[in-house]
Amino acid sequence: MALQPEMLNIVLIPLLTPGHMIPMIDMAKLFAERGILVTIVTTPLNAIRFTSVVDRAISSGLPIQLLQLRFPCEEAGLPVGCENADTLPSFKLMRNFFIASKMLHKPLEQTLQGLKPAPSCIICDKHLTWTVDLSNYLQVPRIVFDGMNCFTQLIMHNLHISKVHESVPEMEPFVVPNLPDKVEFTKLQLPGLFNPGSVDVNDIRREIRATETQSYGVVVNSFEDLEQRYVDEFRKIRGGKVWCIGPLSLFSKENLDKAQRGNQASIDTNQCLKWLDSHEPNSVIYVCLGSLSRLSPLQFIELALCLEASNHPFILVIKGGEEIEKWVLEDGFEERIKERGLLIRGWAPQVLILSHSSIGAFLTHCGWNSTLEGICAGVPMITWPLFGEQFLNEKLVVQILGTGVRVGAEAVVDLISQERSGVMVTKDEVKAAIDIVMDKGIEGYERREKAKMLKQMAKKSVEEDGSSYLNTTLLIRDIEQLVKKNKQ
Ligand code: UDP
Repeated sequence: MALQPEMLNIVLIPLLTPGHMIPMIDMAKLFAERGILVTIVTTPLNAIRFTSVVDRAISSGLPIQLLQLRFPCEEAGLPVGCENADTLPSFKLMRNFFIASKMLHKPLEQTLQGLKPAPSCIICDKHLTWTVDLSNYLQVPRIVFDGMNCFTQLIMHNLHISKVHESVPEMEPFVVPNLPDKVEFTKLQLPGLFNPGSVDVNDIRREIRATETQSYGVVVNSFEDLEQRYVDEFRKIRGGKVWCIGPLSLFSKENLDKAQRGNQASIDTNQCLKWLDSHEPNSVIYVCLGSLSRLSPLQFIELALCLEASNHPFILVIKGGEEIEKWVLEDGFEERIKERGLLIRGWAPQVLILSHSSIGAFLTHCGWNSTLEGICAGVPMITWPLFGEQFLNEKLVVQILGTGVRVGAEAVVDLISQERSGVMVTKDEVKAAIDIVMDKGIEGYERREKAKMLKQMAKKSVEEDGSSYLNTTLLIRDIEQLVKKNKQ
C-alpha cells in the first residue's frame, strides 16, 4: 500500500519480552487491516524473530513498517546480543535490562521526529515509563498496553487503593474489596509490588505505577463478553478510555503465521502436526509454562514423571538448562514416553498446537497471553501459576469462567530462586488436576462445553460488528479526532 502523508501512523513500542512483543505484532496486523500505517519499534535481534510474519503481512498489502534501534547491551551491563528478557543469562540482570530499554528513549525520539507520515499516537508498553516524556515531546497521545486483562487490572487497582493485603498474615486468605464477585487471595499469591521477590526492582515498579495513569487510555488484550462486569468497572476508573480489542492471537490467522508466531519453532511444524493428527480428538495434554519460567530440575522431573504416569498423550515444552536435559537423556524418559509423548525443546508453535482438534487440555502457567490462547482454543485448562499476576489470571479461569482446575500452587515463585528451588507442586497434585480435567463424566463435560462456548464468543468478538471490532473502530475515531484537534 502506498503511504499517504495524511495517513494515521500508530507507533507500537513493545517491551522486549515475548509475552509483550507477540501481542503487539498481532495488534499491528489488526490496525493495518483497518488501513492504518503501523510502525513497530524493535531491535535487530528481536526483528529476526518476526520478520517472516511481518514480511508476509506487508506483501499481502498491509501497511506495516519496522523501525530498528540498536539495543545498548554493553552500556547497560548486559552480555552482547541480549536484546530480549528471555535471553538474559540470569534474571538478576532484569534491572540492567530495564536500564538498556530506557536508553532507547533519545534515539527513538530523534527517529520519530523525522518520521513520515508523522506519528499520530504511540501505543506503548506500560513498563516503558520514559514514553510519557516521549509522548509529551512529540505532542502525541500515549496509550498504554500492559498485557493484562481488566479483571487483573481492577484487582491491582483496588489493592493499591485499599492496601487490604498489608494487614493480613502471608498465608491468610483475604477478600479484595469492591469487586463484582467475592474474590480471595493470600498475600503470597500477589504480584511484584505487593509481594517483592529477591531482585530489588521495586523502584522501577513504583515508577511504572506512577506513570500508569499518565496516558490517554488503555488498550486491553481481552474481549468484553469474557469479563464484562470487570471491563465496566475498569472503564470507570480510567475515565472511559479503555478499549478491549482482543483476543489478539486471532490475528495470526494462517497456519504459517501461527507456526512462526513469536519465534522460529524448534520443532518441524509438519512433524508436529502429523503427531497431533495421529491422536484422538480432545485427547492430548499440551504442557507449556510460558517463555520465561524455568522449573527447577527437581520440579521438572516431578512434572515429567506425572505425565508419564498419566494415561494421556502429551506434548511437553522444555525450557530448562543442562541439568534437565541430562536427566531427560540419562533417565531414558524420552525413550520410555516416545509412543505417547512429544518433547519440544525450546520454542513451541503454541497457537498452532492449541488450535489442533486433538488437544484436550492445556497445562499453563497462566501468563495472560497463554491463558487467552487457551480460551480461544476452546480447551479446559490445568492451572499452575508461577509469578507476576498469574495467580490472578488463574482465579479468573477457575472461579469466574469455570474452565480451569488448579494444580494447587500456593505462592509466587521468585524467578531467580525458582531455578534452584525444590518441589513446590507434587506429582500427585498435578495428577489429581489432570484427572479432573480429562474426566469423561458430567463435570468434565460441562467444563469442556463452557470452554467451547468461550471460544465461540472470542471468535465473534473480533468479527465485523463484534465488540472488539467495534472498540477498535472507536479507538481509531478517537485518535483521528485528536489528530484533527492537534492540527487546529
Ligand atoms: N510462546 C510460544 N512458544 C513457547 C512459549 C511461549 O509460542 O514455547 C508464546 C505464547 O503463545 C504466548 C507467549 O509466548 O503468546 C507467552 O506469553 P504469556 O503471557 O503466556 O507468558 P510469559 O511468557 O510472558 O510468562
